[in-house]
Parts: sequence; structure tokens; C-alpha cells
Amino acid sequence: MSGSDGRERAALVGLVSGPIRRFEAERALDELAGLAEAAGARVVLQMLQERPKPDPATFLGAGKLASLAAACDEAGADLVVFDNELTPAQLRNIEREVGRKILDRTQLILDIFARRARTREGKLQVELAQLRYLLPRLAGAGAALSRLGGGIGTRGPGETKLETDRRRIRARIHAISRAIDEVRRRRGRLRERRHKAAVPTVALVGYTNAGKTTLFNALTRSAAPASDALFVTLDPLVRPAKLPDSRKLLLSDTVGFIDRLPHELVAAFRATLEEVADADLILHVIDAAAPDRERRIAAVHRVLEEVGAAAVPVVEAYNKCDRLSPDERRQLRDRRPDAVCISALKGEGLDELVERLSTRLRLDVRRVSLSFDPGEAGDRDRMASVYRHGRVVQYETRDGRVTLTADLPERVADRLTRARRTDAAPHPSDPA
Ligand code: GDP
Ligand code: MG
Repeated sequence: MSGSDGRERAALVGLVSGPIRRFEAERALDELAGLAEAAGARVVLQMLQERPKPDPATFLGAGKLASLAAACDEAGADLVVFDNELTPAQLRNIEREVGRKILDRTQLILDIFARRARTREGKLQVELAQLRYLLPRLAGAGAALSRLGGGIGTRGPGETKLETDRRRIRARIHAISRAIDEVRRRRGRLRERRHKAAVPTVALVGYTNAGKTTLFNALTRSAAPASDALFVTLDPLVRPAKLPDSRKLLLSDTVGFIDRLPHELVAAFRATLEEVADADLILHVIDAAAPDRERRIAAVHRVLEEVGAAAVPVVEAYNKCDRLSPDERRQLRDRRPDAVCISALKGEGLDELVERLSTRLRLDVRRVSLSFDPGEAGDRDRMASVYRHGRVVQYETRDGRVTLTADLPERVADRLTRARRTDAAPHPSDPA
């Protein structure tokens, strides 16, 4: 049934209802097209229906459903993707009427995540999300079960089999949750080690396709694949960023956010996103040239709140500035005076960005003199820290005490002198 290039042919359906205006629905459908392409399908048909609200039994009206079936025949569509979540009953009824595989937006996104997960943790999390989505939909699910498992069009299991399936799925959910807990603990221990090392972590976040991975590569000079496909980055990568002089920070590349991220996924990826909530600083990468830029920014803020990262300080980088006209650049600078304009692709504005990060993280170096008792284990550790993170310019001993004068990142100096808390809260004198 699929086209000559082996890709499945997808029809997309959206609904214009309630407060949603037509152009918003069109944009949502375009985004759905991007998701479908990312899942490996070719979009052959797009359809919008205006209705005050969805039909409880069939989602679309009866007439529209019939014309959808006809249009699918004509376009040779293998499957139909709805831009909304469908109830199990709607799914069944539409499938009967249209005679094709039906997916909703959530299933499509889950499918993409399943294809893209690389690490064991990522795979476990996706499977958990899929099972959690599947379980409440099992009752009389018919063909839906095999579809959620990735199969096409086979007949559904009988009722006895359903009960066994349900038990099996619950057992699997339990096992996966335990495995994820273990991974999470390991991750927590790693994070603790990083904290001890006094090297701050910056988490890259942003709407999908904003240029996070490109920026990550530019700042770490590594080569993780950047791509136009959505969601290439699923598992966080953490690498040291190359900064001038002795300043150090770790950068983590994270999953791209999109609007209306299925709730199952937010929950399932919490462990991954904890990396974000736990960062010293969030670097929000924005596609400055996206026509719906503000909506995307708002979507990212919502996800940050959902994963408990609302309190982490943020630096906003407006990326793809090479695509803006001089006029548009001026407008942006007027509207957001503290925005950093960059082009990750061309390497423009990166120095300014690094300086901004440094200031916010209090990585700037200042000269301090600190006195230690070398007979004390804690003080010996602190002296070692001074040597590890700074440049010692003078060493003095008097009455059994050692005084080190060193050029140290403010962040480390803060910590050693305990003069103030050493978290990433902006310093009062920080203009940013
Ligand atoms: P991510 O999804 O946020 O990780 O985005 P990627 O880094 O994978 O980039 C998505 C697409 O945007 C790729 O095709 C990049 O080449 C492109 N891109 C990234 N940065 C820039 C930029 O500064 N200017 C332009 N014109 N394109 C960029
Ligand atoms: Mg990426």
C-alpha cells in the first residue's frame, strides 16, 4: 500500500472548533505534518473541518467522515493522523468508517520518540509512556492494540486474551518503572559528582528545530548530528564547553520541546528533564526567524514549569539571526534589549553569548586571598580546589596556617569563603 519510496502515505485531519481560529488550526496541522514526516511518513492529504465541537462518537461529522474516506481512496493514503487525542470509541468508529490505520497526535509523537531513543534509559522511558497510553485504551480495543504495538491492521485479541494482556502490561510497567528508578539514582549520583567538582551545568532547551544541537556543537566543537528532522535529540548529552581561559562549564543538549507535548511523555521523560531542573542555568535557544516565535517561546515556558524548572535562571539566545533582515534585527533588539542574537550555524554572536553565560554563572575570575589550616582534612580539600580551579600566584605560611592568593572563578571563591550561597542565582551587580 505504501508509495514507491517505501514510506507510508499519511492523511492529516484537524478540527476548527470553539475558540480555535482557522489560521491556528492550519499552523497546528503544519506542525503535525512535520511530526508525520519525522515519523517517516509522507503527507498526501490535509483536511480541516469547522464544527462547534467534536462529535462524541466519530469526532468529525458523518458527512465529513465519508468525504475523508473518499479523499483517502483518491490520494492513496495508508493511514490517517488526527491532530487531537481521540477517545477509544472515536478511534474504533473512525477506523470502521475509513478503513485505514488511525493515529492521534499523541500516538504519533510516541512513535517518533520510540524511533529516536538511543540509550537504554530513553528506550525504557518511551516504552513506559506507550504502555501507559495503551492501558486505559485496552477495554474492547479491538485492532487498536496491535496498532499501538506498531503492527498494521491485524485483528484484535479476544476478551480473555485482553485480561492476560492487561496483566502482562501492568507487570511490564512495574518492571520498567523500577529500572528507570535505578537509572535515575545513577544519574543523581553523577550530578552530585559534578556539583562537587564546582563546574556548573548549562542546559540547552528550546522548541524543536531551534538550533540547540547546532549550538551545542559550536560551543563544544563536537559533532552530534544536527538535522531538520524533529526530535533527533532524545537523550541528554553532556559535554564540557570550550571557553577561553580557565573557565569551565558543562553543557547538556536536551530534547526539543513542542506545543501540546503528550502528558504521558512529560511524565515519562521527567528523569531526562530533571537534568534541566537541576541545571545552574538554562540556555533557551529561540528560532528568531520562526513566524510563530512567541507561541513557541510560551510553549517552552510551559514545559519548563511542568518539569519544575521555573526557578532556574534563563539566558535567551535568539538563533538563526542570519535569516533576519537588518530591520527585523533592529526590531528584535528594541523589543528584547537583553536578548543575545546569534547564528549557531555561522558562529556569529557566540563570544557575546559565552560572556553572558559566564557572568550569569559567576565564572569571572577575581583575585582572592584565603587562609587554611593544613592539619584539617576539610581545609586540605579546599586548598586542592584552589589549585584545581584557579591559578595560585602566592603561597605563604605563618603560625602553621597557609595563605593562598589565587585568581579564582567567583563561583568557586564564593563557595570556599562561604561568604554567600554559591548557587546560580544572579548576583545583585549582574546587569543581565
Ligand atoms: P534542534 O532541534 O534545536 O537541536 O535543532 P538543530 O540544531 O538540529 O537545527 C535544526 C535546523 O536548523 C538544522 O537544519 C540547522 O542546520 C538549522 N540551523 C541551526 N542553527 C542555525 C542558524 O543559526 N542559522 C540558520 N540559517 N539555520 C540554522
Ligand atoms: Mg537537537
